[in-house]
Amino acid sequence: MPRIVFMNDRLVPEDQARVSVFDHGLLYGDGVFEGLRSYQGHVFRLKAHLDRLWESARAICLEIPLSPEAIAQAVSDTLAANHLLDGYVRLVVTRGAGSLGLDPSRTKNPQVIVIADTISLYPSEYYEKGLRIVTAATQRTHSAALSPRIKSLNYLNNIMAKLEGLQAGCVEALMLNHKGEVAECTGDNIFLVRAGSLLTPPPDAGILEGITRHAVMELAHKAGIVVREATLVRHDLYTAEECFLTGTAAEVIPVVTIDGRTIGSGSPGPITTRLIKDFYALVRS
Ligand code: PMP
Repeated sequence: MPRIVFMNDRLVPEDQARVSVFDHGLLYGDGVFEGLRSYQGHVFRLKAHLDRLWESARAICLEIPLSPEAIAQAVSDTLAANHLLDGYVRLVVTRGAGSLGLDPSRTKNPQVIVIADTISLYPSEYYEKGLRIVTAATQRTHSAALSPRIKSLNYLNNIMAKLEGLQAGCVEALMLNHKGEVAECTGDNIFLVRAGSLLTPPPDAGILEGITRHAVMELAHKAGIVVREATLVRHDLYTAEECFLTGTAAEVIPVVTIDGRTIGSGSPGPITTRLIKDFYALVRS
């Protein structure tokens, strides 16, 4: 069955959902996006995703031509049109079509696109046994070059690191910042457990401030687990008791080896397991 896509002001079949070859989103990666999830018909943290979309857009001087309320409505209409209760939603706002050349003022009609689809989940084995990851040689973009806090259509930095992970037989790869500090993975934030406390890199390590990351910090707090943002290096990960990743698609996923070093006991630890359970309950509550 063809998917139904929201384009600007209406729902259209996927084969009619088209952007111009002159759209700067295509030509230069000039635009912003969000990835959201719907659980039993409820979009998880919709407001936080819309706030982040607007912040990303503001940072690149892109005016989103619809109101947050109109986009929220489009998200729910697109899910309904595709008969999806549990699904993944991709929100995209491109700069729009213009002349060849970088100048955004020579574009018009930013395109607002909402795609809803089934979510391709990691196999359950990864959650039970944990992931193996490696450190990518590709550094996370220096925030003075392009802030990783902007969720832009230019994801080549992450794709370069993802390729390295895949070439090493891993589905995720760790990215360090220009100082060699732990930043995040290619599409997920990272946490470790040390002396029973949770540690995760701060925004100024050069990360996307994940919405799942924030939810997990709240859950840890509620569970009486101390959680702190801290500058981390690979040594901290190699010697951690536990390690896990967070992201909209992956939710909370354990990591059991990093660069061939076994983390903790080599299987998902008690704090990770607890947070997986608490997160599962939160999104389905
Ligand atoms: N870091 C990066 C680079 C990401 O692209 C994402 C989202 N896929 C995340 C972290 C996790 O963010 P969220 O929890 O909001 O999905």
